Amino acid sequence: VGEEKSYGFQAETRQLLDIVTHSLYADREVFVRELVSNASDALEKARHVLLTSQGGADTEKLSISISVDAAEKMFVIVDNGLGMTKEEMMENLGTIARSGSKAFLNQLANQAGQGNDLKNSIIGKFGVGFYSAFMVSEKVQVFSRKRGEDAGHCWTSQGDGSYTIAPASGVEEGTKIVLYLRTDALDFAKEETVKTIVNKYSSFVAYPILCNGKRVNEVDALWLKPADSITTEEHTNLYRHLAKAYDAPTYTLVFRVLTKRVIRWLIDEAKKSEKDYEEFYKNFGLMLKEGVAMDQKNAPQLAKLLRYPSSAIENDEVTSLDAYVSRMREGQDTIYYLVANSYNVAVSSPYFEAFKKAGIEVLFCYNDHDEIVLANLARFGDKQLKSIEVVEPPKELIEKMEEKKEGEEKDKEEASTPSMSEDESKELTSWMKESLGKRVSDVQATERLVDSPAIISDHDNAVTRKLMRMSEFKSM
Ligand code: ADP
Ligand code: MG
Repeated sequence: VGEEKSYGFQAETRQLLDIVTHSLYADREVFVRELVSNASDALEKARHVLLTSQGGADTEKLSISISVDAAEKMFVIVDNGLGMTKEEMMENLGTIARSGSKAFLNQLANQAGQGNDLKNSIIGKFGVGFYSAFMVSEKVQVFSRKRGEDAGHCWTSQGDGSYTIAPASGVEEGTKIVLYLRTDALDFAKEETVKTIVNKYSSFVAYPILCNGKRVNEVDALWLKPADSITTEEHTNLYRHLAKAYDAPTYTLVFRVLTKRVIRWLIDEAKKSEKDYEEFYKNFGLMLKEGVAMDQKNAPQLAKLLRYPSSAIENDEVTSLDAYVSRMREGQDTIYYLVANSYNVAVSSPYFEAFKKAGIEVLFCYNDHDEIVLANLARFGDKQLKSIEVVEPPKELIEKMEEKKEGEEKDKEEASTPSMSEDESKELTSWMKESLGKRVSDVQATERLVDSPAIISDHDNAVTRKLMRMSEFKSM
């Protein structure tokens, strides 16, 4: 069945492994979270493949199953996700691609000479991804077969300087990771322990997680539940999920008591000194956003405390929704926002072009979780909130802007842009539709774009899909 080959880990990986395996790490249990998170990522990728290639066939079978065996000292996690080819195993499991791990090593370099406690607390903060398996294992085996491929492989390492890869037969599509537990980690071969950990960290994974055949995770979206029925622990977990943080949200407790009076107090403070408030917001904004997303009763008030960058202000400044509303164009009834990675990505986004042209301000959000927050909020006072990924600027506002411009000076660029006749545009769109085939549902000519030649647009459910993706424990 082919032969086994041995490879050396990349130097950085070796360094990381050395720390991971030799640290007396208090929160070793996070390895469960990391492996479940990877399995969930792989399922999500498989779901996309299935949706695009097979119209969604079999997506309901996607799941993660963990089995533990105390007698064998084993912890096994299986997913029927995308799987990996041999090359992908070498690339993904042999090098540190993960930004979190790099940040971890950098931080560690800064703390050189410090004791173990500190190292441990840093590991907890960053999470070390797949390598965390070595905190509890003498040996780790990864069996994987990429979806659609015939050959499966087995990756094996003892967390020292090297790993081996060999062809393996009988490997199902997806990935199976076998941990041979260290004698000091046998607790993780107990069903009860594992169930508790999965519940603690992974209750937002949208795919079923089974432990020894029984379903463990809950799948209800927390933000759809009535606020009164949400426990503090659930709060904490959502916070961890959204924040990718592993500490507890100190302020959430206060929130429950931290609410009406505190909100009013904060609003007053912000009025007194916007600068001080923004400093506070840098540290605690996430918790306020959590409140907006989860606490329907208080969301309208809490929304006054939100701050976002925007197209109408300087790159490094933020604005409140009230201030946005005060700058709105006459006749505008919607607050527009765009979730993008950074200011530069946002301002150069094709979605933004038409809004820029129409002189309509757009809030910029740089985190995926803002999508949840703003979609949940849905309204601010009598204004709606909408993502510009799903709506275009109102025609009346564009027309008004154009009238105004005409009065001033005719836009040179526009005058020089050769426009297309209706027939020509029909011919072009039908040719594109034919060439792109099933990959698009329609191709239309639009006046929405200014500089970009084309844009991929979606129906109104684009945001919903993003939210669905967010409900999985995914690297943010
Ligand atoms: P991260 O998840 O942040 O990328 P990890 O160290 O957790 O970093 O995982 C490294 C990589 O290994 C992943 O990005 C993925 O490509 C691959 N990987 C890990 N586990 C699986 C899995 N169960 N299925 C498919 N690929 C996986
Ligand atoms: Mg990971």
